[in-house]
Amino acid sequence: IEETLVLVKPDGVARNLTGEILRRIEAKGYSLVDIRMVQADRELLAQHYAEHEGKPFYEPLMEFMESGPVVAMRVAGNRVIEGVRVLAGATDPTTALPGTIRGDFGRDWGLRVQQNLVHGSDSVESAERELSLWFA
Ligand code: ATP
Repeated sequence: IEETLVLVKPDGVARNLTGEILRRIEAKGYSLVDIRMVQADRELLAQHYAEHEGKPFYEPLMEFMESGPVVAMRVAGNRVIEGVRVLAGATDPTTALPGTIRGDFGRDWGLRVQQNLVHGSDSVESAERELSLWFA
């Protein structure tokens, strides 16, 4: 059975949306396998976001992700990687469709990084790599 990493980002935790996000994942039929609250450090975030190093939003993204605790979840289900990304919606919270987590709760705060509440792994390879980082 497939597994993915879901992160409730610092904005989601600060806005008390952790339960709502988990509720949607569970209501869809996916299973929570493990969960932990983490204050991420630079080293973990640099590994997690290695693909974005050098991009204009990289430094703001790092600062945002270490600005407060995140909730990391190991979630299982058939096609859960794709399914969680559909539940999350588009990266940009302004254009994310209503009915998605980002579409319903996200908005553009005019900052240098999109504070879009949630992360989900984007492939089987990413999921394995990210799960081993956050659930070492
Ligand atoms: P995630 O990886 O968090 O699930 P994603 O796959 O939709 O989101 P990525 O392209 O992997 O998006 O970017 C990682 C994160 O970096 C985004 O979720 C967002 O917080 C931020 N980000 C990405 N692109 C931009 C951008 N053009 N401007 C500002 N922030 C961005």
